[in-house]
Amino acid sequence: MKLLSDLTLNEMKGLVESLGEKSFRAEQIYRNVHAGKEIPDMTNISSALKERLIDEGYTALGVRIIEHFRSEIDDTVKFLYSLTDGNVVEGVLMRYKYGNTLCVSTQVGCRMNCAFCASGLNGLKRDLSAGEILAEVIAANVFDGGDLKSRKVTNIVLMGSGEPLDNYDNVVKFLRLVNSEEGLNVSYRNISLSTCGLIDAFDRFLEEDIPVTMTFSLHSAKDEVRSRLMPVNKKYGVDRVIDAAKRYFEKTKRRVVFEYSLIAGENDTEEDAQILIKKLKGFPCIVNAIVLNYVKERGLKGTSRKDAYRFIGLLEKGGLSATVRRSMGTDIEGACGQLRAKYLAENESK
Ligand code: SAH
Repeated sequence: MKLLSDLTLNEMKGLVESLGEKSFRAEQIYRNVHAGKEIPDMTNISSALKERLIDEGYTALGVRIIEHFRSEIDDTVKFLYSLTDGNVVEGVLMRYKYGNTLCVSTQVGCRMNCAFCASGLNGLKRDLSAGEILAEVIAANVFDGGDLKSRKVTNIVLMGSGEPLDNYDNVVKFLRLVNSEEGLNVSYRNISLSTCGLIDAFDRFLEEDIPVTMTFSLHSAKDEVRSRLMPVNKKYGVDRVIDAAKRYFEKTKRRVVFEYSLIAGENDTEEDAQILIKKLKGFPCIVNAIVLNYVKERGLKGTSRKDAYRFIGLLEKGGLSATVRRSMGTDIEGACGQLRAKYLAENESK
C-alpha cells in the first residue's frame, strides 16, 4: 500500500507532475492529507485526479483509530490504531495545562526487549513508515476536533512502542513532516524523542539539526543493573549514554531528560541514588522518575509511592533536578505496549 502521508511536499510535487497535473495541486493534496482527509474526501481536488491517485495504489493515511479508551480520572485517551496490513499500534493523548501531548509508536513491537516493558514481549514485527507515524498524529488531532489551523495535538513524545533510533530514516522523515509549515507545523521544541541509547544512531541524529528534546532511558546508573534491565546496555553502557546526553546539551543547549522507572528492589536504593548523583552532578539535566507500571508478563514491581518520594528526595539533596512524573490514565492501561499486548492476547484466543 502506498501512502500519501509518506511524501514530503517535494515528493508530492513529483507525483502530481508525473500524473500530468499542475504542481500547485501538490500543496492542496498535502494539506488535505495532513488535515486528515482520505482521498475521496478531498473536496478541492478533481474527481479525475482523485481516481488517478487511487488507480496508482495510493491511500492517504493508512492508519485508523479502531478503538479508544477514555480515562474517567484525567480524560487521557488511549488509541488503538490499525494499519493497512492488519497490524495494530497504540497511542496516548494526555492533557496538560499547556496543551495536549500525544505519545506515538514508531515500530510494531520492539526488539530491545527491556525486562520491564510490554512492547518487546513479542519482538519486533516491523518498522512504521514516516507517514504511518505522522498519521497517528493526524488521526488523534482529528479525533479531538482539531484541524491544520487549530491544532489539538500541540506536543508529541516518541515514547510509545518501538525504539525511535532503531527506525532511524523513517523517524527523521516523520519529524520533518510533522514540523513542516504546510502541515501540522509542530515545533521541534514541543517534541521529545526518547531512546534506550543507540549511540551510533544518536551520533548521526546529532548532525540532522532537529532540535527536539532528547530523553534517555537510563533506569540505572550501574552497568550491572542496567544490563539486566536493558540488554542494549551491554553494547552502549551507562557512561556512553551520559556522554551522549552531554554532547547533545553542548550542541543544542537544550536540557536533556533521563527517564528513570523505579522498580522495587532493583534500582531504588540509596546506593542507586548516590551513584546516579555522582554521575550526573553539575550537568544541567532533569531526572524524570516514574513508578514502574506493572506488566503481568514481566513480573517486576514498581517502587511504593513513599519510597519513590524518598528516592527523589535523595536526588534533590544531591543537587539534581528531579521530578516524579504523574502517572496518567492508570485506569486504561496507560503504559506503552500494554494495550496492544492485551489486544493480541484477546484476538489470539478467539
Ligand atoms: N524505546 C524508547 C521509547 C519508548 S518507551 C526508549 O527506550 O526510551 C518510553 C519510556 O517508557 C522509556 O523510558 C521506557 O523505558 C519506559 N517504560 C517502558 N515500559 C515501562 C513500564 N512498564 N513502566 C514504566 N516505564 C516504562
